[in-house]
Amino acid sequence: MAGAGGRVPLGLRRWLSSPAPAPRVCVVGSGPAGFYTAQHILKHHGGALVDIYEKLPVPFGLVRFGVAPDHPEVKNVINTFTQTAHSERCAYYGNVTVGRDVTVPELQQAYHAVVLSYGAEDNRVLGIPGENLPGVYSARAFVGWYNGLPENRDLKPDLSCETALILGHGNVALDIARILLSPLQLLRVSDGEGYCLLGAPMDSQSVGSDPRLWPALWIALLASKKLEIKHHPLLSYEKQKRSHFTSSATKPETSVGVYLFLLELRAAVWFQLMALGRLKTDITDSSLAALACSKVKRVWLVGRRGPLQVAFTIKELREMINLPGARAVLDPADFRGLESAVKDAPRPRKRLTELMMKTALEKPAEMQAAAAGAAVPREWGLKFQRSPQEVLPSADGRRARGVRMALTRLEGSGDSAKAIPTGDVEELECGLVLSSIGYRSLPLDPAVPFDSQRGVIPNSSGRVEGVPGLYCSGWVKRGPTGVIITTMNDSFDTAQSLLEDLQEGVLDVSPFREGFGLVESILRSRGVRPVSFSDWQKIDAAEVARGKAAGKPREKIVDPVEMLQIIGH
Ligand code: FAD
Ligand code: NAP
Repeated sequence: MAGAGGRVPLGLRRWLSSPAPAPRVCVVGSGPAGFYTAQHILKHHGGALVDIYEKLPVPFGLVRFGVAPDHPEVKNVINTFTQTAHSERCAYYGNVTVGRDVTVPELQQAYHAVVLSYGAEDNRVLGIPGENLPGVYSARAFVGWYNGLPENRDLKPDLSCETALILGHGNVALDIARILLSPLQLLRVSDGEGYCLLGAPMDSQSVGSDPRLWPALWIALLASKKLEIKHHPLLSYEKQKRSHFTSSATKPETSVGVYLFLLELRAAVWFQLMALGRLKTDITDSSLAALACSKVKRVWLVGRRGPLQVAFTIKELREMINLPGARAVLDPADFRGLESAVKDAPRPRKRLTELMMKTALEKPAEMQAAAAGAAVPREWGLKFQRSPQEVLPSADGRRARGVRMALTRLEGSGDSAKAIPTGDVEELECGLVLSSIGYRSLPLDPAVPFDSQRGVIPNSSGRVEGVPGLYCSGWVKRGPTGVIITTMNDSFDTAQSLLEDLQEGVLDVSPFREGFGLVESILRSRGVRPVSFSDWQKIDAAEVARGKAAGKPREKIVDPVEMLQIIGH
């Protein structure tokens, strides 16, 4: 069995290199799970042919439609996915909704193996009264809106209130809080030439001539000297073509520790550049315009459990704490007595809690300014042990005016502690409610088993239970948590199961399978025209051209009809 890192045992490697009929594999979904599954199969089986089907005309799933626009460095994985798509043994078919345009049994007739990697396209619901009132939005829809997801392009969230309440203490909640409170120049664009510092794009004006960037230059220089690294791509500071900006994913030439240090350094530099407004984001023009008129200046993030159970991570919290023009309001009472509890906690949890405690206790400059009577434009805070009970309607019943919270106590400790209502309630006033309590996968096809309780396809190491030849990877395999690297490891694991089944004859590759040839005729008969990867590259080029006019990396096209027009469909 291969490890998560994808090392293939010798016996399997020998078998894989022997001549055998080409297995045809189909992957459903072109997010990280789909692309990483395809990558691993193509890399470790010299003959396998992999077709990726995607319901949208455009690829990359949540990397395009979920990852926050002010985190452009995360989207570098698109370069790896593009390399995979360019493999001679890989094909991309966008604009094909599996389960509607073609069924899973039809795919099983066309391919030797089918991998379901279609993510989590819905969100959990609170199931409380008032949840559907105007002014209440799911985090999924809100994220989709600012990221140009076609189905959310017309969301038009009402940002005319001063206080927003985000329910949930995950990283998506922090993403949304940051987008709501970021000074516009952090989300906006600045034009310029292609320069690269620690993998972060900068405009030509910034290089050398801007004293505010000298610390970043100095860090890079010092790090390279101290670590005695003559050349490391992460430390490059050189003029590059803009298309190279995103290609800084590198193999470490140095030890893992040094590499991690460099990654941290790089993240710090990215953030500094972002704070200086030197990075461009691909936030859609329409959402930027709406945010420009936003009246929201206070954001509460409310969790049902305590500080030791928050689901967000330290890097994202630190970004929030360092957000220019927004002060953190954390109540020191929430952290009383936690010092001893956190002592034995795993290091990431310990550091995260210590950062919250430090922030709660210290008086940042903005707080002092506020105490001295100067206006602090924006603020945000964390509220704990409050479970949403009802979204309260305004007097005319037309929209949300607040949320009634059940106060909770914790039963048990650590990650598994449960929130039990104490019987006390509290009303929190707000004009905007964002429910950020997690995404949710949906069943795809009656032929595929689905665990509705857990929202996953029941599987063992990616093998769908009871259906030989059917596999799953990513969020639909293990639930809607985990970052891209988690999804990568999980997808390699599924791909490895598939390769082992090929080796052991569980997957019979002897019968001829036509692959896309069969699917194409089915799609034609149903009036569906797939989008190829080169079609996507035309859409990509059109987006980049529109972005260039506005000085941004791209202006996303949000209407699928327009996407199809561009490629002449
Ligand atoms: P997805 O990325 O959702 O991909 C699924 C794909 O399947 C989509 O393209 C979808 O259109 C397609 N599909 C769905 N149904 C069908 C169908 N019927 N037929 C054909 N295709 C279909 N991780 C990080 O490391 N860093 C971050 O900064 C980060 N930010 C995030 C921000 C948000 C808001 C969210 C929600 C997640 C974030 N993550 C981040 C986590 C990361 O996005 C996930 O780990 C990863 O995207 C999961 O990959 P997936 O392929 O399983 O799902
Ligand atoms: P998440 O991490 O699972 O957080 C969900 C939050 O909702 C938790 O605080 C949870 O509290 C709460 N919650 C769930 N059900 C609730 C209910 N009924 N009532 C009240 N609260 C409820 O999910 P997410 O924020 O959607 O993120 C999904 C994944 O994407 C995560 O793995 C995340 O790390 C990743 N992501 C990463 C980044 C990044 O790296 N920058 C950005 C965004 C997302 P309990 O713990 O009490 O259940």
